[in-house]
Amino acid sequence: MSTPPFSHSDYANVITPANITWQTDDSGNRVPISGEFGDVYFSHADGLAESRYVFIEGNQLAERLANLRANQCFTIAELGFGTGLNLLAVWQLWQQLRSTHTNLATARLQFITTEKHPILLEDLRQILGLWSVRAPELAQNIERFLSIYPSLIEGCHRLHFEEDNLTVDIWLGEAQTSLAKLATDIRDTETDSHNPQVDAWFLDGFAPSCNESLWAATIFAQLQRLSTVGTTAATYSCAGVVKRGLQEHGFTIKKVKGFGRKREMLTARVSEDLPASPTQDKTSQNSTFSLDNNHYLVIGAGVAGLMMAWSLANRGIEVTLLDKVAPLAGASGNPRALLAPKMTPLHHVDEHLHTIGYLYSSRLYHQLNEQAKKQGFTPIIEPTAALDLLLKANIDSRQIADYPDDLATTLPASEAKVLSGLTAQDLTENLYLPQSGLVNPQALKDVILSHPLISFQTLAVTKIDEQKDYISVSGHDNKEQSANKITLQADNVVICAAFESHYLDERIFDCRKIRGQLSWFTPTPKQLASLPKLPLKYGGYCSLFTPKAGDSTLNPVLEHQPQFLLGASFVRNDIDTSIRIDEHEVSRDKLIKAIPELEPIIPSDTQSWQARAGVRTQTPDYHPIVGQPAGSKRIWVMSAMGAKGYAFAPLCAQALADIMLGAFAPLSSEMLSKLSPNRARLQTPLTS
Ligand code: SAM
Repeated sequence: MSTPPFSHSDYANVITPANITWQTDDSGNRVPISGEFGDVYFSHADGLAESRYVFIEGNQLAERLANLRANQCFTIAELGFGTGLNLLAVWQLWQQLRSTHTNLATARLQFITTEKHPILLEDLRQILGLWSVRAPELAQNIERFLSIYPSLIEGCHRLHFEEDNLTVDIWLGEAQTSLAKLATDIRDTETDSHNPQVDAWFLDGFAPSCNESLWAATIFAQLQRLSTVGTTAATYSCAGVVKRGLQEHGFTIKKVKGFGRKREMLTARVSEDLPASPTQDKTSQNSTFSLDNNHYLVIGAGVAGLMMAWSLANRGIEVTLLDKVAPLAGASGNPRALLAPKMTPLHHVDEHLHTIGYLYSSRLYHQLNEQAKKQGFTPIIEPTAALDLLLKANIDSRQIADYPDDLATTLPASEAKVLSGLTAQDLTENLYLPQSGLVNPQALKDVILSHPLISFQTLAVTKIDEQKDYISVSGHDNKEQSANKITLQADNVVICAAFESHYLDERIFDCRKIRGQLSWFTPTPKQLASLPKLPLKYGGYCSLFTPKAGDSTLNPVLEHQPQFLLGASFVRNDIDTSIRIDEHEVSRDKLIKAIPELEPIIPSDTQSWQARAGVRTQTPDYHPIVGQPAGSKRIWVMSAMGAKGYAFAPLCAQALADIMLGAFAPLSSEMLSKLSPNRARLQTPLTS
């Protein structure tokens, strides 16, 4: 029997975008209607005013946000993101408050939202374009939001608006599934930090008569699990199912006057004397956290350490970044890193760290490009796109077709030929990755180290000593015998020292060490004309790049002259980092075997090639190590990124900073346990 073709409905966790239709309201305004639910996204009378009345006033946000303490984080969670109008309303309020209240300079707002049928970018552009005209005060934020609107795939998409200390986590998929993934108690050990909790709920899931799914008992059970004493909720609906749902799950409800001509709406609050959720012990503390301690040390200044420092500093923490040599001295210091994922079939992409990490990193690096531009630094990512020839991939073109085209698609062979410049290669099967690019590690380092809360110090750490109230880290200021001994004290330390993490704390798994050499040469003008025109993946990868000013301080490259890089070698249990001619040849042979037409172009004499070798650190299950070693309170680890540091580190650093500070992480609890330093797979030492 032949296998029937795959269809979206075969899998519950594949996203179907919203089917938008339009109506004209009483005042002649065009309003969008959800084709799936047959209801309006917002009030015909005035959606923005209703949003402000029901959700902002209903949760008393103006007062509560204005009174946050320095470094406090306030979490809003929404059922039904729709057009994002509620987000835009609360974002504008937050900006207004921050411009008039100095206490909010370091406070943060986290907006978590869920959406089963996200609106396609072109529809959203039209819908929000109308709001830009009707409410010009929203126009700038609408542009900022649309410029980083995520690809529509299941799972969490974290968006940063760092100028406003605002993080938006859009969880695409069934709300019940998404809420269940939010981790509240993810530390393996007791620490002084709080568990994350929602402070205010926006219950905006269409009327229960059109959509029962967002008012089900399982949803209310999640509300209860994620709330604490003092958490509030607001909704326009006064239906019996809503009142009962809230009351039976720890909320005291209050009917208040509804918006406009509506008679009533509901507000609700978790009060002291109500029973705790069956899934969790309640504490009476408010979920918002405050930093009692705010100086952290990060050991290791590769991409993991840099991203960790950046994530902590954006949360108001002073970070000293330490490295025994210099930033990017180890495996992260290649002249360029190709950001291109190894894809997986769409139906389990939401738990596929490589794809979600790639999407997040790509978005973040593009955003940081803007910052780099303002500061006069070179761009962090060069948006080259990439073509995977699918010679060593675990996905085929039928599965690629399920992905949104902006994330992954198969190009017609003729187009792939024009783009790549290859003429003889069979390109019928290919994976085109429009969001891929070449990351410039040096530029990323420059932007991160310019953060006012991050300072770099050379220190070869020899000892970490954890005390009840502080951590002390000692070492030498260089590797010479005459080196000065230095001891630093801080509140917490994060070990980001790749395979050497184990030497600093034996509880961290002693990982596999894999030598990798990336080679490059300077093509002649004739060679240049025939080399591939965009980065290619074929088991190995190759790309042209042009080094920028300053790149030669990190690697032997000819600045401003095109170079062709190819790699990388892969030698297990080898930590030697000297350059090897035979590994240039291994990389050359691999490329020529995959793309024979390049044989006459790539020089066979590799004597003049340049290279960089580094040691990648890998766990037996290929997942990084992110979390807190068992028994510790002040020591954390983020390591074992393998060869995927530029895709994994940004998202893992966000997750770890959130865990450390008691905020909701952008990864599911299941994923966080897969990354835990104490997971079962890491209890047995490697044998080879
Ligand atoms: N807050 C939105 C705004 O500011 O535009 C309006 C939300 S609209 C009233 C309700 C949203 O809930 C729709 O976008 C709909 O697709 C979404 N939704 C409905 N059922 C859902 C479910 N079970 N899980 C997640 N989202 C759902």
